[in-house]
Amino acid sequence: MQLSTKILLGMSAGIIVGLIFNLLGGSDPDSPFLITWIVDNIFDVIGKIFVISLKLLVVPLVFFSLVCGSASMGEDIKMGQVAVKTVCLYLFTTAMAVSVALAIANVVDPGIGINTGSIDSINVKTAPSFKEVLIGIFPDNPFKAMVEGNMLQIIFFALLVGIAILKAGDHGQQVLKGCVSINDVIMKMVFMLINLAPYGVFCLLAKLFTKEGFDAIVNLALYFSTIVFVLCFHAVVIYSAVLYLFTRLNPLKLFINMRPAMLFAFSTSSSNATIPVTLSAARERLGADNSIASFTVPLGATVNMDGTAIMQGIATVFIAQAYGLELSMVQYLSVVATATLASIGTAGVPGVGLITLAMVLQQVGLPVEGIGLIIGVDRLLDMLRTVVNISGDGMVTTVVAHSEKRLNKDLFNTIKS
Ligand code: ASP
Repeated sequence: MQLSTKILLGMSAGIIVGLIFNLLGGSDPDSPFLITWIVDNIFDVIGKIFVISLKLLVVPLVFFSLVCGSASMGEDIKMGQVAVKTVCLYLFTTAMAVSVALAIANVVDPGIGINTGSIDSINVKTAPSFKEVLIGIFPDNPFKAMVEGNMLQIIFFALLVGIAILKAGDHGQQVLKGCVSINDVIMKMVFMLINLAPYGVFCLLAKLFTKEGFDAIVNLALYFSTIVFVLCFHAVVIYSAVLYLFTRLNPLKLFINMRPAMLFAFSTSSSNATIPVTLSAARERLGADNSIASFTVPLGATVNMDGTAIMQGIATVFIAQAYGLELSMVQYLSVVATATLASIGTAGVPGVGLITLAMVLQQVGLPVEGIGLIIGVDRLLDMLRTVVNISGDGMVTTVVAHSEKRLNKDLFNTIKS
């Protein structure tokens, strides 16, 4: 059986088992002993080990593949040009996402008539300023950056090493050879891990659906379905349009070839943990050269969160409406700017969208406690928006690689199993 079919089967089986356990009382504090035991000691353990193993590969993979990528760019590609194009596309699609979300939320009015009741107060970190975000890109200690998994700093250091390798002549080439070999070994580890994915995703989803069920969705049906609609609209319409406009390639093939990464993103709710799979999909299935993909993919996992921005746009309108508050045009623009900026400095891990949402709400002066209204369905939405986040990374990678003539179109056009 093909691997992606196996992963899909693992996911479906996980959701079904989880829902059955949920119906049998798995989400209650006094749930049946056997269910609690299976969920806590089997699903939770295997699921956590699976995600930890993915994360284990992220830092070495990003570092070595980007060193190799930037060192092999040579004279014909200008790094600065690639960086500017990538960042502009990421920021443009994110700003677009939150704008569409705000517009549609104002038509659907998901928050009208919602009872705000008594909600616990929430502690909020303040949004980082642009200055802080900018300074935060530069590492003072590369090892600290790696230990902390600070993606922007790792990217910066890897680029620096790659460029120095290019300039260091023979010695540089020797270092490069070593990095290429290490990179190949890490990629082997990625493939080994991907083969275990069906079991990993089964356990992750079985645990999640045992705890969540669908009750929360029923209560927030309009909010939930508005977000799902805008997520689909953004991925299908906006991504397809941007891809076609710049490359004339068939968008359907983008989604089909990104399938393994999308399934991983759905199951782990983490763009960061999915980096190894997104990177391998970008190179082996979309046909983007490593010199481009090794830069755009890890950068996208941190900077590009269109799905998250969509949730934040709709959640802001929802909370304003629930509290009976009107937002001015300036506040709307502030939502767009804060949601876009907040996504730059935060890593793609589960639930981070809610933390940055708190910053957005505070910025426009809305009650941050309003997050309590939507928290119940956020775990499920997180899975869907992470899929959109990494699809955007794949789309931008394809566009940038195409513009630099580093895209293997035959590979892109071949539908893989
Ligand atoms: N889980 C998302 C990601 O990793 C971020 C979020 O929306 O919470 O991309």
